Amino acid sequence: MSRQLISIQEARAIVLQASHPLEGEPMEIGQALDRVLAQDVRAAHDVPPFASSAMDGYAVLAGDGAGQLQVVGESRAGTPAGSRVAIGQAIRISTGAAVPEGADAVIRQEDTAELEGGLIRTLASVAAGENVRPAGEVMRAGTQVLVEGTALGPIEIAAAITAGVSQVLVRRQPRTLVLGTGDELCDPGQPLGPGQIHDSNGAMLRGLAHRAGAAVPPATRLPDDRARTVTGLEQALADADVVVISGGVSVGPHDHVKPALAQLGVQERFWGVALQPGKPTWFGSRGRTLVFGLPGNPVSAAVTFALFVVPALSALQGRPGLGNARMAARLGEPVRQNPGREQALRVRLEDRDGEMVVIPNGPQGSHMITSLIGADWLALIPAGQGTLEVGSVVSLHPLPG
Ligand code: AMP
Ligand code: MG
Repeated sequence: MSRQLISIQEARAIVLQASHPLEGEPMEIGQALDRVLAQDVRAAHDVPPFASSAMDGYAVLAGDGAGQLQVVGESRAGTPAGSRVAIGQAIRISTGAAVPEGADAVIRQEDTAELEGGLIRTLASVAAGENVRPAGEVMRAGTQVLVEGTALGPIEIAAAITAGVSQVLVRRQPRTLVLGTGDELCDPGQPLGPGQIHDSNGAMLRGLAHRAGAAVPPATRLPDDRARTVTGLEQALADADVVVISGGVSVGPHDHVKPALAQLGVQERFWGVALQPGKPTWFGSRGRTLVFGLPGNPVSAAVTFALFVVPALSALQGRPGLGNARMAARLGEPVRQNPGREQALRVRLEDRDGEMVVIPNGPQGSHMITSLIGADWLALIPAGQGTLEVGSVVSLHPLPG
């Protein structure tokens, strides 16, 4: 590769520039787990919808003070009392039940004693409003509860349901097709012929895309053949928001992906990143369809997926900042720099005397899939001539997994 390599930052900026949010689609709130909001969500009504009791006890008039009260009814959760509370009276009430008309406080069960004849004695006094959750205390009708771009986890879904919302507009999931290339590839579990290896990237890249919120049809595999590569890519381009290809994107005589994409009118946006592993990464687009040509080595494919494809999938779902989430930590072992390229080391964080430090996760070759097992982060090591010593602060990028 003779020409100038671009930095990870530059490559990611180019990817994000081409990644526009997909349209919204309506969805029942209960079906919307892990989808991203394409609208703000506002409360349809007050929450709680009525003044309710925070305790099991008796709804009373605070001004009544301590003394004897006549129990004139009961308010249960879901079944309000039929009567109101007047001076000298109380209504038995359960947690979450509506505070009856006339009452302005709830005295706890423990602060009362039951007497004969439907009477209770109050053993403590309560102030107005005590143990009462006013209507609208959690949210008022019309309050903004969730903002556009929020991923709907279980808690967000519960909050929206509480707010009276039944349907939300969420971003369409980016339809992401994974294509493996290589004559050497053999289906998982099949006996290997001479020179063959199992296709692990297909399942891995599909899984990573799924975790990043994409809709992922079954993967396709292409032999190292120009005509078949063109046909396969043509079908994929017609059917996908994002095409992720593994292998075949280097400069060997059997690497057909780049010329095939050029023939199909996919515009190259970059090829070659100053990154180890992941140098021969290719990115282009045709219309709104994004195409990633990832290196075939499994570690390179996973690393470049994390650095470039995850941010694109997030941006398509209306969360452009997500792929840039970063943190920093100190090295717990020295790391030799690469003179020409930034390194993305697979690392784990280990506790050293109360500080979480960065430890490379075993041998780092781009074919060493084991370096990814148990690794949660990529440590980005700047290019340079020397060694980063223990204690140097390095930036960390999340590894999906
Ligand atoms: P390539 O980028 O096509 O030159 O492939 C680089 C290396 O990755 C070669 O050793 C390939 O055998 C390997 N490789 C390519 N595709 C896959 C795949 N789907 N699963 C596992 N290894 C692969
Ligand atoms: Mg190949």
